[in-house]
Amino acid sequence: MRRTAPLILGAGPAGCAAAIVLAQAGAHPLLVERDTVPGDALCGGFLSWRTAARLERLGIDIAALGAQEVTHLAIFAGGRQAELPLPDRGHGLSRRALDTALRRRALELGADLVTDRIRRTEGTTLVGQQQDRASDSLFLASGKHDVLGMGRPREGHDPALGLRLRVTPGETLRIRLAGRIELHLFDGGYAGIVLQEGGTANICMALRKSLLVEAGGDPRALLVLLAAAHPALGERLAAAAPESPIDTIGAVPYGWIARDTTPGLFRLGDQAAVIPSLAGEGIAIALASGSRAAQAWLDGGAGAAPAFQRAFAHSARRPLAMAGLLRAVAERPTGSGLVAALALRAPALLRLVARLTRLD
Ligand SMILES: Cc1cc2nc3c(=O)[nH]c(=O)nc-3n(C[C@H](O)[C@H](O)[C@H](O)COP(=O)(O)OP(=O)(O)OC[C@H]3O[C@@H](n4cnc5c(N)ncnc54)[C@H](O)[C@@H]3O)c2cc1C
Repeated sequence: MRRTAPLILGAGPAGCAAAIVLAQAGAHPLLVERDTVPGDALCGGFLSWRTAARLERLGIDIAALGAQEVTHLAIFAGGRQAELPLPDRGHGLSRRALDTALRRRALELGADLVTDRIRRTEGTTLVGQQQDRASDSLFLASGKHDVLGMGRPREGHDPALGLRLRVTPGETLRIRLAGRIELHLFDGGYAGIVLQEGGTANICMALRKSLLVEAGGDPRALLVLLAAAHPALGERLAAAAPESPIDTIGAVPYGWIARDTTPGLFRLGDQAAVIPSLAGEGIAIALASGSRAAQAWLDGGAGAAPAFQRAFAHSARRPLAMAGLLRAVAERPTGSGLVAALALRAPALLRLVARLTRLD
C-alpha cells in the first residue's frame, strides 16, 4: 500500500473544486476517478448565477466553453404557461464540457489523477480495483454513486428517478428556448429544458418511480405517455431522434445531509448534501463544499473534517428545506398550478423562493 497526499475520490465538480484549491496551495492532491475521459453526467446542465461565480473563482471561463446565457424561467403546468426573469443570469452547459474544464484546471495546477474504480472505503483508505491507497485525509466526492460502506439512506416509498436525453431542436424550438430555462411540472415530477453549447438542448427529468412502473418499466414508453398528457413537453420531446439514448439514474436521496463525520473524512457534493434538482443548485453545492473542505484542510489538516462537515450541513439546511418544499408543492397537480399562478401574479415571491434555494 502507498501513503499519499490528500486523496479525492471522484473528479466531478466537488472533487475537482477541492483539487483546484488544494493544488493551488501546493498540496499535490491525488484524484481517483473511474472514468478516463469525463462522461456526460446525468444532470440538467443549468448553472445558477452562484455556480457561475464559484466557477469564475476557480479559474473556469464558462463563456469560453460556449455556455448559453439564461435570463428567464418559463413554467408550464396544467395547461398554463408563465414566464419571469431569473434573480440573476444563469447558463446552460453540458456536464461533459464542465467536468472536462474542471479536471484540466486541477491538473494544470499540480493535482494528479489516476483511473481506478473504488470498490469500498476503509476509514480514509480507498480500496480500488487496481490498487489500494491510504492517506490520513480522504475527500469523498463520488457524487450520485455510493461506495460500499458509505451508503446514504434512500426514500423507501416511491423514490425519485433521474432521466435525461439530448435533442437537437429545429429553428422554431431553438428560438423559443433561447435565453430561457423551461420547467414542465407534472403529477409526480418535472422536466427541465435548457440549451447548451453546440446548439443542443438537454431535457432532464426527476420523477417518481411509480410513473415508470405505470409505463411498464420502459423509459421510452414513459416519454410517450408524458408527451401525450403534456403537449408543450411533447413538442420538445418530438425533437429527439427516435433512437437517441435515454440516461437514467435510480433513487436519488433528495434532502439528505451529512451532519457529521470522522477526522480525516471530508464529505463533498452529493455526498455532503443532495438538494432537490428542481432548484438547479446541486453543482453550486458541489463546488462550495469542495472549496470549503479544501480550505478547512489547509487551515487545520485532517482533524478539521468534523467542524467543516457540521458547518457545511448548517449552511445547506435552508436551501435544502426550501427546495424540498418547492418540490413537494410542484409535483402535485394543484401545487404545480399554484406555482404557475404565482409566476404570473406574484413573480417577486417566486424569485424570492429561487433566491432562498441558493447556498450562501
Ligand atoms: C435529475 C437531476 C437533474 C439535475 N440538474 C441539475 C442542474 O440543472 N443544475 C445543478 O446545479 N445541479 C443539478 N443536479 C445536481 C447535480 O447533478 C449534482 O449535485 C452534482 O453532479 C454533484 O456533483 P459531485 O461532484 O458531488 O458528483 P458527480 O457529479 O456525481 O461526480 C462524481 C464523480 O465520482 C466518480 N465516481 C463515482 N463513484 C466512483 C468510484 N466507485 N470509483 C471512482 N470514481 C467514482 C464519477 O465517475 C464522477 O466523475 C441534478 C441532479 C439530478 C439527479
